[in-house]
Amino acid sequence: MSDIQTIATIGEILVEFVSHSRNCALQKISDYSGPYPSGAPAIFLDQAARLGARTQMIGGVGADGFGRSVLARLEQDGVGTKGVHVSASHSTGVAFVSYYDNGDRDFVFHLQGTAADAFDVSPALLDPAKTMLHVSASSLGAPSMRAKIMPTVRKVCEAGGWITCDPNARPELMRDDEARTAMLETIELSHCLLPSTSDLDFLFPDLGEEAAIDLLLKSRAEVIAIKRGARGATIVGRGERHDFDGHPVEEIDPTGAGDCFGGTFISLLAQGASLFEAGQRANAAGAIAVTRRGPMEGNSSPSEIADFLCTATPKKQMA
Ligand code: ATP
Ligand code: MG
Repeated sequence: MSDIQTIATIGEILVEFVSHSRNCALQKISDYSGPYPSGAPAIFLDQAARLGARTQMIGGVGADGFGRSVLARLEQDGVGTKGVHVSASHSTGVAFVSYYDNGDRDFVFHLQGTAADAFDVSPALLDPAKTMLHVSASSLGAPSMRAKIMPTVRKVCEAGGWITCDPNARPELMRDDEARTAMLETIELSHCLLPSTSDLDFLFPDLGEEAAIDLLLKSRAEVIAIKRGARGATIVGRGERHDFDGHPVEEIDPTGAGDCFGGTFISLLAQGASLFEAGQRANAAGAIAVTRRGPMEGNSSPSEIADFLCTATPKKQMA
């Protein structure tokens, strides 16, 4: 990992509109705010850049106000945007989200046929041997996106670079056999995995958590970061385990917390932090993220995370 120079992502860049009415199911007229910069790979990379890593985003936006706003945010936060194609003929991708009282959410995505999908991966942009390529497996659902991501995953892996993967194993995505195959191949090639507990349940329905972790560590994975929502996170390395309790915070908008957690964790690991330090800061960054409306608005700076950790009162230690 010492040779890693750049953290890169390939995938959807979009803007999101958040409904202010709970339980409206995106069916009833309600107030929305936005456009909030969004897209799982973009949120992840924005946070990785804020934590000090050199980054390269590969994706697309339209030559419209939405595209200009998300691109300006990425640039302002220090993300490398040479790989972002600005399309004159396609509009920026858009998502709408609404929450229920029980925490469930409804999304409407407009991605296929938009600028989010209208870009090429330029081989000159990345030195595969020195790249840590992060894949948010939700991006693998669209065939055109898959065709851009998978060749680069294989190239980086063969050259000795690192693959990191958030399985985001949504049942809606896995209805497509090719999406599932691409996700399983990416998991197989990953050095670091960032599953949520529901990802583990989905991927290994017949195994308990410990057995699932053991199985993953038997392949290439050297580090597994398990995201537990309000219950915190667990980091497992070879011969190392750290459990972090969830910080007590008021959850306003949970979307993007997983990407913010991942961007923090991977950025710090790439810069030489210990698993404990990277996990502790990622767990704090995820908690900060849920307190702010807008998926990328929850991203934070190293000093905000440090201040949060100074004042946060941890819950009792997990058993
Ligand atoms: P996403 O909804 O973006 O896919 P995810 O399911 O991948 O998210 P989560 O487990 O929801 O990931 O959140 C990532 C991390 O953020 C958690 O492991 C935890 O550290 C922190 N976190 C999330 N929600 C809360 C919360 N309500 N209170 C405190 N910390 C939280
Ligand atoms: Mg979640």
